[in-house]
Amino acid sequence: MASLQIVDVRKAYGSTQVIHGVDIAINDGEFVILVGPSGCGKSTLLRMIAGLENISGGEIRIGPRVVNDVAPKDRDIAMVFQNYALYPHMTVADNMAFSMKLRKAPKSEIEERVNKAAQILSLTKLLDRYPRQLSGGQRQRVAMGRAIVRDPQVFLFDEPLSNLDAKLRVQMRTEIKQLHQRLKTTTVYVTHDQIEAMTMADKIVVMHDGIVEQIGAPLDLYDRPANLFVAGFIGSPAMNFLEGHLQGGRFISEGGITLPVANVPAASDGKPVMYGIRPEHFILDSNGLPAEVTVVEPTGSETQVFAKFCGTDVVGVFRERVNAQPGQQINLTPDPKLVHLFDRQTGKRI
Ligand code: ADP
Repeated sequence: MASLQIVDVRKAYGSTQVIHGVDIAINDGEFVILVGPSGCGKSTLLRMIAGLENISGGEIRIGPRVVNDVAPKDRDIAMVFQNYALYPHMTVADNMAFSMKLRKAPKSEIEERVNKAAQILSLTKLLDRYPRQLSGGQRQRVAMGRAIVRDPQVFLFDEPLSNLDAKLRVQMRTEIKQLHQRLKTTTVYVTHDQIEAMTMADKIVVMHDGIVEQIGAPLDLYDRPANLFVAGFIGSPAMNFLEGHLQGGRFISEGGITLPVANVPAASDGKPVMYGIRPEHFILDSNGLPAEVTVVEPTGSETQVFAKFCGTDVVGVFRERVNAQPGQQINLTPDPKLVHLFDRQTGKRI
């Protein structure tokens, strides 16, 4: 195990810069998830950590060692790919043993490590099968087994669950988290799925257009997003936003409707802001402001209500059942203590 330091790392393909100076400090044993929309640079960054892409600027350190010019095989990392990259003509056992055989490790040690990894991943009964005889989830486990056998300083995962169906994804999420709790190996995991990031990570790095927007524990990002991008990206359904400005300690929407806010900063009269409210922070309240229902989606445990509120399309999530029909009116109050305000010019949290 080792810490991992990414210091002012940059990447350019020709004259196009795709990573613009990224700093991330990862502690020994930490599970860090790089998350962001497609094209934000997360796979490129992971591949630079792995040594599969050159680093155009900055420094990557694994433990005390700068690895910028160290070959991938000498970085003491193991990577799990989205497409598993298993050898089809080899059994599960041989796939898992392959890297150790290349290193000419003693046979007894190889057997011991493969058996141990198989046990951890419930693959013992499948060791003689070929990849084509396995389900998607089992193949993913073999790919992880191959990484575990190497006992690396750092695990790197590149969208490992993207090829699995929804139910299996949820199950594998839990398995990977349990695996990390057991092995405590420093892990960097890339996904575009913010739910995966929220549920698995010790620390999330939100990326966008080749920069880091925010780094923090999952619930810190959820409760205190640093800017509009993170506020809109983390959370499902996403945070609702209303445009307006601040006046006399309150928020006035574009349409002139006043909404309460706790803790408005001093001297902010006239400031153009974005008012953010999470779907579950609307309160059904007969004294609240009117909202016209457009769609009601009950899931059983909760109800999602899409509605027109202060001239904007919003979604509310309620634990109680809502019997309103489309076209009917409900009354909503945003919980003033849980409102987020963002500067409309800079996008930054106020
Ligand atoms: P993500 O993993 O977040 O979807 P990538 O790291 O794959 O994003 O890509 C980041 C950016 O770099 C994208 O704009 C992509 O088009 C660009 N890019 C990736 N690989 C290359 C390449 N080999 N040549 C040129 N541009 C590339």
